[in-house]
Amino acid sequence: MKKLPRFTIGMGDRFAHQGEAQLSAVESAFKRGVPLHPVWNKSNREHTLIGTKPEDLRAEADAAVKALNWTAPYFVDADHINLHTVDGFIAASDFFTLDVADYSGKPASPESLSAFFEKRSSLVGTHRLPLLDAPLEITRTDLERTAGKFLWAMQEAGRIYRHIAAAKPADTFAVEVSVDETDTPQTPAELLILLAMIADEEIPAQTIAPKFTGRFNKGVDYVGDIVAFEREFGADLAVLSYAVREFGLPDTLKISVHSGSDKFSLYPIIRRLVARHNAGLHLKTAGTTWLEEVAGLAESGGEGLEIAKDIYAAALPQAEELIKPYAPVVDIEIPKLPSIETVRSWTSQNFVEALTHDASCPKYNLQFRQFIHVSFKVAAGMGTRYTDALKANREIVGRRVRDNLLRKHIDPLFC
Ligand SMILES: [Zn+2]
Repeated sequence: MKKLPRFTIGMGDRFAHQGEAQLSAVESAFKRGVPLHPVWNKSNREHTLIGTKPEDLRAEADAAVKALNWTAPYFVDADHINLHTVDGFIAASDFFTLDVADYSGKPASPESLSAFFEKRSSLVGTHRLPLLDAPLEITRTDLERTAGKFLWAMQEAGRIYRHIAAAKPADTFAVEVSVDETDTPQTPAELLILLAMIADEEIPAQTIAPKFTGRFNKGVDYVGDIVAFEREFGADLAVLSYAVREFGLPDTLKISVHSGSDKFSLYPIIRRLVARHNAGLHLKTAGTTWLEEVAGLAESGGEGLEIAKDIYAAALPQAEELIKPYAPVVDIEIPKLPSIETVRSWTSQNFVEALTHDASCPKYNLQFRQFIHVSFKVAAGMGTRYTDALKANREIVGRRVRDNLLRKHIDPLFC
């Protein structure tokens, strides 16, 4: 097990040009004494849509680290992998997000179910967790329902972990288990049961990404009941430290918040609870850097603005296809998107204001922002026209990328 630091931020960089800008945002916090470390993440989904390989992400991370002379730990995350996609990631990655959400509901064998019930029968009952006002109640039905839904999935996580561990020394990588892209949120009680299964599979998980209550859409703020989230998140943190003590999971175990970019209304709550529980945190952001690239090109005007508009004009006719891979994590109503003619008529400022996540700006267009988020495949199709523009406008784009991570994400959450 390669130990994870207390705070980590997962950063995506679809086109591999912003590694230094991203690292310089993390460095700013680190130099102020915050134990925050970078994780560069890219899923198989994104590699496939863009045509990159895990080695490209490793090369980018290493180059950024060298350029900024970063000497502390950093990680390259094989994001959302499963047994079918993991092989291409093994050499280049030292952080693996074992995504088993798709297997929820697949029944485990009757033998392994009874073995689990026997071994973990003491989970049924009332658990008084430190820092929690209300005790955590688990009934036999809760245990059976959760095992019915997740035991096979966690066994699969075990198979993925052992597959990786057979190919590289165990102390050279960190492991996360993610179940965030599933149908219903997990309650704190279910989270505790999942952690027992993870311990039984002997997965040295250091982060776990549950599905929280409410909507965690890509690149936009939280939609849901903030009070319910606060209650749930606090209980989840208490469950994690309990699981570390009870099940012998790594003491570096922490919560991972996926689709974590731009959840501005939650950051003060998460920050307060993480401090209260003396917990760690992994915040995973991904497409927010790509959005800053588009905004930066639009801001730079001329050819950059033309490219930003061309991306939209090419994306809109294929909206359904572009949205499809992200359907569980966006809420886009195609008829509400601006017409191509409207966007063609925009100035730099119009474009930037529509795209920039600033709830106080009346021009901010949440539909437009989410749609650009899923449209990066169009920019990938532009080839060097897009990447040359990134190079030509390196300063404006890099400043936006750094500023977005630092001012809107890192400072409110970690500093
Ligand atoms: Zn996820």
